[in-house]
Amino acid sequence: MTESIFPARLGALTRSSSACLEMAHNLLSDRRPTLNLARLLACVVVLLWFLPDTTEAAPEAPAVTAFTDINVVPMDQERILTAQTVIVHDGTIVAIGRDVTIPAGARIVEGRGAWLSPGLADMHNHVDGANDLALQLSLGVTTMLNMGEARNSFVGRTRAAIARGNVPGPRAFAALAIDGSPQHGHLVVATAEDARATVQVAKANGYDFIKVYNNLSTEAFAALTTAAAEARIPVVGHGVTSVGLARQLKADQMLVAHAEEFFYTFFPTPGPADENTAPDVSEISAAIALIRRHDAFVVADLVTYGAIARQWGRPEVVEQYPASPEARFLAPGDRVSWAASGYARRSGSLDARRWFLDVFVNRMNAAGVHLLSGTDAPGIPGLVPGFALHQNLLALEAAGLSRFDALATATRNPGIFMARAHPGLPPFGTIAVGSCADLIVTSANPLEDLRTLSRPIGVMANRRWFTQSDLSALRERISTAYRNAELSDEPGEASRD
Ligand SMILES: [Zn+2]
Repeated sequence: MTESIFPARLGALTRSSSACLEMAHNLLSDRRPTLNLARLLACVVVLLWFLPDTTEAAPEAPAVTAFTDINVVPMDQERILTAQTVIVHDGTIVAIGRDVTIPAGARIVEGRGAWLSPGLADMHNHVDGANDLALQLSLGVTTMLNMGEARNSFVGRTRAAIARGNVPGPRAFAALAIDGSPQHGHLVVATAEDARATVQVAKANGYDFIKVYNNLSTEAFAALTTAAAEARIPVVGHGVTSVGLARQLKADQMLVAHAEEFFYTFFPTPGPADENTAPDVSEISAAIALIRRHDAFVVADLVTYGAIARQWGRPEVVEQYPASPEARFLAPGDRVSWAASGYARRSGSLDARRWFLDVFVNRMNAAGVHLLSGTDAPGIPGLVPGFALHQNLLALEAAGLSRFDALATATRNPGIFMARAHPGLPPFGTIAVGSCADLIVTSANPLEDLRTLSRPIGVMANRRWFTQSDLSALRERISTAYRNAELSDEPGEASRD
């Protein structure tokens, strides 16, 4: 099987028993394939292994895939490997080089000088609907972290179906969000005893993280971090008002879920004259010293705060969102909740803080802080899943990061973060032998123009290969569904940050 990326000669790939035999052969021996009982048995075993155990759409037949004549952006360091062959077997990269032997029977994707980068990660969103999952994948997002309020069915079932290749979407991690009051609509954890029980509940339900929120009590926070450390479930989240980020990071909270949390629980509180005054930039070094001391990660969600700042007190900005090109991929429930969101009715301006965040993020990056891309989509009006991640990469570049450093926040750094959070996970975020084959193919070099990543011409995720026509079919299916039906993909409550 050979296909070129550019003219979509092959659309959906079909199951092929001969390909399977070839693959089984390649798995088992280097000799020429001859049909015998052992190989036939191996083929049956391989097919059974990949057969879906649900009634969901079956994934493509598994195969060894060889990307040929492709320029690799490995993201381990700032470099390009030109004219490479990359071999993927069973969802893992097994060979990269110029003189790599392509196994017989492999599916060959002719790169013809295209570019291969690690798939992208949105490490702060609130996506749990099937359409938003497919939308993200169609835009090259192959990993996500749901930061709270996901449906139980998403945490327990949908994520497993994605991993099996039965549901198109990014590999999904999930955080259980808890707060000390019902003010923001999160699960209330009032006491130390509640906090300890929460850790067990999170563990039993397969959550990867616990996300702390603004109003947690000091007592609950202390009990939570102790119990979470014992259970090996990392704590991430907002600044907790009663505790403060300085003590939170000291207690091993490993991730600050928004860069702007430092306004609320670290930098000096502004006077009553203008509560949205930006801190003095001289305060930044103390914040960086704190983060570095505890080797914490920070979600550099410039797109999130930028969207809020743009619509703050400006209803005309929110009224424009339905006319944006990406709005046809927005779930009707979110369309309704965006219009009802309160930011446009606020007074004053966040512009000074928006500018400060650019400086802060740029300085953190220069100091070696591990920044992760995140968006909060679709909870913040204006931020459509998938599209928002690409906008965040551009916002990071505009703030002064190199394109390599900006792209690292959505590839290499999330890989480092997850490896530290959960040692033993299959590695992702770079193109290297042994890494997950989460891959995005583009027609141009993303290190010369990040925008090329928003127009992928191929994506590989969860052992499946999606051609450019597969990706646009995913998007068309979504926009058609939204156009033709009052179909709500999402619970539809804005500001689920
Ligand atoms: Zn959020």
